[in-house]
Amino acid sequence: MQLPPPQAISIAAAALLERAGDNTPLANAINKAELALQSGIKVAKCDDGWLIGSLRGEHVYRVSSVYGCPCKAGASGKHCYHFHAVRILIEAGKYAMPRLTSRVVYAPDVSEWF
Ligand SMILES: [Zn+2]
Repeated sequence: MQLPPPQAISIAAAALLERAGDNTPLANAINKAELALQSGIKVAKCDDGWLIGSLRGEHVYRVSSVYGCPCKAGASGKHCYHFHAVRILIEAGKYAMPRLTSRVVYAPDVSEWF
């Protein structure tokens, strides 16, 4: 999967950091997630979430925005960079250029109203 441009990743991470406030463990996980994304970790969209490769490339985690990440940290309820990498990607989606595709516009058939 092609990742968003580096600048979009940075802007998204900064937005998440601002919302993290003074939550240091959360901020650390977001920083590590940004580094991982900028360092080119493998990311793929899957049916129920995302497949996120580890920084050293030895593990792959199936991360869901509902169930979180099954890694050691994630499974024990701590912040992990896999989960926050997904958050950054979702956040970055807001900054990506919308695809220029034609839209289906709903045009009501007024004659049916009367
Ligand atoms: Zn994890």
